[in-house]
Amino acid sequence: MNLILMGPPGAGKGTQADTIKAAYPVPHISTGDMFREAVQQGTAMGLKAKSYMEQGQLVPDEVTIGIVEERLAQSDCQQGFLLDGFPRTIVQAEALDQVMKKLGGRIEAAINIAVPDEVLIQRTTGRVSCAACKTVYHTVFNPPAQAGVCDKCGGKLLQRSDDQEETARRRLEVYHQQTSPLLGYYQQRGILYSIDGDRAANQVFADIQEVLAGL
Ligand code: ADP
Ligand code: ADP
Ligand code: ZN
Repeated sequence: MNLILMGPPGAGKGTQADTIKAAYPVPHISTGDMFREAVQQGTAMGLKAKSYMEQGQLVPDEVTIGIVEERLAQSDCQQGFLLDGFPRTIVQAEALDQVMKKLGGRIEAAINIAVPDEVLIQRTTGRVSCAACKTVYHTVFNPPAQAGVCDKCGGKLLQRSDDQEETARRRLEVYHQQTSPLLGYYQQRGILYSIDGDRAANQVFADIQEVLAGL
């Protein structure tokens, strides 16, 4: 199963991906996670990505396409994959089509998680995640038992610097300008499934399961 999870910043892509991958064990490929890791490790790619991420802008297509192409060519992706946060531009979507052609497969579904802008700002600005195991929480909607401490491993919970309100709003603008046109791209291909993401995470997941069962 080759899937794309789409949606604006804070829609719940990462949260749903974690649940999907428990039910359907395919690699979860998050370009945001890959970039954050590269920044943390100080690699050349991380250095390139850092300033764009801090400003809430997209990392240039050629950098992003390169890392995804490399990742999809790895053997664990042959039985399927779940892309989270890629593609984010039409150029990336066209590149993905080329990569799929080369690999001899196709994207079966682009699942879009739709959430109103003001809810998205509440979600991103309250998001914290574990420095050790990366589990994501929300200070109000999904709080840990003890503030600032991971339930699962006791690690420290940190806020992403790009989740501060000003940058979160810029990312939302970038989404509307550069990423939302992709909805039409996948709709034209007949593989777009849009889901109301402004509900409890388990209700959103139930709808995703229904889409996956119908593929
Ligand atoms: P969100 O939780 O807002 O959806 P991500 O973790 O997916 O954010 O992405 C964080 C940042 O990483 C983005 O704001 C952008 O700078 C960069 N990034 C992630 N995916 C892409 C992509 N497909 N194209 C360009 N930049 C990306
Ligand atoms: P994305 O990967 O799309 O940026 P996340 O999965 O990281 O989104 O979710 C953003 C924030 O919203 C996190 O703090 C998460 O705990 C919270 N969240 C995710 N899904 C829901 C939901 N259905 N209702 C309320 N809060 C949610
Ligand atoms: Zn943890």
